[in-house]
Amino acid sequence: MKKLLIVIDMQNDFVTGSLGLPQAEKIVTTVKSKIEEYKKNGDRVIFTRDTHTDNYLETQEGRHLPVVHCIEGTEGHRIIDDLDTSGCEVFDKPAFGSIELAEMLALKGAFGQRTDKCEYDEIELCGLCTDICVISNALILKAMLPETRITVDPSYCAGVTEESHEAALMTMKMCQVNVTE
Ligand SMILES: [Zn+2]
Repeated sequence: MKKLLIVIDMQNDFVTGSLGLPQAEKIVTTVKSKIEEYKKNGDRVIFTRDTHTDNYLETQEGRHLPVVHCIEGTEGHRIIDDLDTSGCEVFDKPAFGSIELAEMLALKGAFGQRTDKCEYDEIELCGLCTDICVISNALILKAMLPETRITVDPSYCAGVTEESHEAALMTMKMCQVNVTE
């Protein structure tokens, strides 16, 4: 089975920085082992980075969440040192979910148009936060690639609160994301 792992926003600002959460620190070891498992099997791993510019506070996201984070080029924007990105792609995204990432994965038809398929049987997502960027990307991938299994294992991601983590898992389950136990 051909698999792809997408590691969502495991950046300094979300783990120990301006939006750091203790529940994010708790998943570092498990996410690290997941990445190593994929690499060992020769499977592809893509890291995403939440990416903002200096005008963050004037953006819609900044108005709703006025905490400066993940500014391009800063320490907070970097993937945490515990995770090894060597041999992996790093994909910067300006919003919660990335249509560009899903488009990049969709196979092209004879006339260059995207299709509802990709080369992977399964795309697994892990990282931060379950209730914002993990769910956004899971639902975009599900919409763009309805024939691909989209998997989220709850122990490899963390939400802003325990309640919103559980609520996001429930919503993903309802939308036929493969939420494993
Ligand atoms: Zn952000």
